[in-house]
Amino acid sequence: MEELSPTITLVAPNYNESASLPEFYRRVREVMEKLGESWELVLVDDGSTDGTTEMIRELGKQDPHVRPVIFARNFGHQIAVTAGLDYSRGQAVVIMDADLQDPPEVIPDLVAKWREGYEIVYAVRTEREGETWFKLFTARLFYRLIYRITDVDIPMDTGDFRLLDRKAVAVLNSMREKHRFLRGMSVWVGFRQVGVSYKRAARFAGETKYPLKKMIKFASDAITGFSYFPLQLATYLGFLAAGLSILAIPVVIFTRLAGMQAFLGQATTLIAVLFLGGVQLISLGILGEYIGRLYDEVRDRPLYIVREAPDIE
Ligand code: UDP
Ligand code: MG
Repeated sequence: MEELSPTITLVAPNYNESASLPEFYRRVREVMEKLGESWELVLVDDGSTDGTTEMIRELGKQDPHVRPVIFARNFGHQIAVTAGLDYSRGQAVVIMDADLQDPPEVIPDLVAKWREGYEIVYAVRTEREGETWFKLFTARLFYRLIYRITDVDIPMDTGDFRLLDRKAVAVLNSMREKHRFLRGMSVWVGFRQVGVSYKRAARFAGETKYPLKKMIKFASDAITGFSYFPLQLATYLGFLAAGLSILAIPVVIFTRLAGMQAFLGQATTLIAVLFLGGVQLISLGILGEYIGRLYDEVRDRPLYIVREAPDIE
């Protein structure tokens, strides 16, 4: 039985969320029934190994609102959300985490702004509960850094929790870049955007699926995807080093003529060589980051592989 396409699609990526998922589903259902719009819930299983997969499959059987998309392995949060957008059919799509950090109760606020005519309504966290100081500190640093050096003005302290109009989803779905930083991409597309503030809750159960390693990859995708600044850094450092060495020439001549014992021995040479060698290696590494990403684009592998998913009409 195929119903008409719903007004609202909710997209939630799941990676080992078996402890949160039942409660997430219950609260989403409650909110959506009260809201009274037709809706669907796209649950993406990002290669879970803790029974989440079976849970999603079961929900799909019990409730026609639920559309399960099951990956062949773990592809990462941003890719899982991308798949959710691909399979969404609603006139508006809300992206949210499955761990209840993005409270479903905020959905009606997002929908209200959409009804006012905004095409992208992002949720801005005014407070964050139950996060470690390390997470808060790195997140703060991350948002400020990204704001500084990227070419798009990504609003501070917003995650992926947002509503996108179908128009914006269509554009995002046509952008098939491999290293995806969705909150940057969704600013880049333009449209009428507005923020709605909310209090970010603590994770309902389980622990974060974003260890430091994934956070670093996420940050470098954000930076390389939206800025050439790291590449230009080598140029700036080059000019700086060249400038300094030119300035050093008269200083050395003067000290020699004055008969001083400065700059004798290997230590100074060694320091200069190591310093420049370091700068060069770092620059090469940065170049490598961009080339690696370029390689991924050229190779053009699919963004994700689904094991089971509904047909895309
Ligand atoms: N997630 C995912 N794939 C991953 C890592 C995370 O689908 O490889 C999902 C996870 O299940 C959750 C959301 O992405 O619904 C956000 O992850 P998490 O809550 O662990 O991140 P945090 O809130 O700690 O930054
Ligand atoms: Mg979370």
